[in-house]
Amino acid sequence: MEEGRAERRRRTEGTAAVEELEDFINNINSVLESLYIEIKKGATEDDGRPVYALVNLATTPVSKMASDFAENELDLFRKALELIIDSETGFASSTNILNLVDQLKGKKMRKKEAEQVLQKFVQNKWLIEKEGEFTLHSRAILEMEQYIRETYPDAVKTCNICHGLLIQGQSCETCGIRMHLPCVAKYFRSAPEPRCPHCNDYWPHEIPEVFNPDKEREAGTSKANKKPSRSRQH
Ligand SMILES: [Zn+2]
Ligand SMILES: [Zn+2]
Repeated sequence: MEEGRAERRRRTEGTAAVEELEDFINNINSVLESLYIEIKKGATEDDGRPVYALVNLATTPVSKMASDFAENELDLFRKALELIIDSETGFASSTNILNLVDQLKGKKMRKKEAEQVLQKFVQNKWLIEKEGEFTLHSRAILEMEQYIRETYPDAVKTCNICHGLLIQGQSCETCGIRMHLPCVAKYFRSAPEPRCPHCNDYWPHEIPEVFNPDKEREAGTSKANKKPSRSRQH
C-alpha cells in the first residue's frame, strides 16, 4: 500500500516537472524569438526519448556546420543526407555514401578519410550508425527539419500521426502512409487490433517498445527491469 502511494506521488511529481519545464521553455522562447533562435522539443525516432535542441532559425543548418567542417566534409554530409532522405528505410549504407566521394566539392577525399569524417558526424550527433548504415540523429532532425522540407520537398516523408518530418518509421503496405515508431506505439496502445489510421487495413508490423519515463524510473531502482521484453512474440 505504502509503495503504491509513493509511486503515484512520484508519477504526479514527474508530470508536474514536465509541465514546469515546458512553461519555462516557452518563457525562454518568447525572449529568444527576437534573436531567431528557439528551443525545440523532439523525440528520438527509434524509442521516443525526449530531446531538446537550441535551433538557429536564421541560417541554413548545413552552412552553420561550416565552422566545424571543411567544404568537402560538408558536401559528404549533404550526400549522405540526400541518400537517407531518398531511401525507403531512412538509412544509407556506408558503401553507398563512400561511393560518392569522387563527386565531392572541395579538396579530394579518400574513402578511408571519408569513413573517419562519417565517424566525426556520429560523434557530433549529426548522424547515427547502426550496423554499417547511417541515419539522421534526432538532433539533426530538430535542427534541420525546415531546411530538409525546403530542400527535398518531393522526397520528404511525414508521420500520419504527428505530421512531423519522418526519416525512419513503419509504413502501411496497403495505402503507404508512414508513422514514427513512438507514434505507432502510442496510437496502438489501447487498440484491440492494430489497424491503419488511414485505410483501416491490418497493421502488419511489430508494435515497437518505446521510451516510457515511468518504467525508466522503476528501472532506476531495480536494474532487473532493464531486460528487453520480447515475450510478446511467442
Ligand atoms: Zn509521428
Ligand atoms: Zn493504410
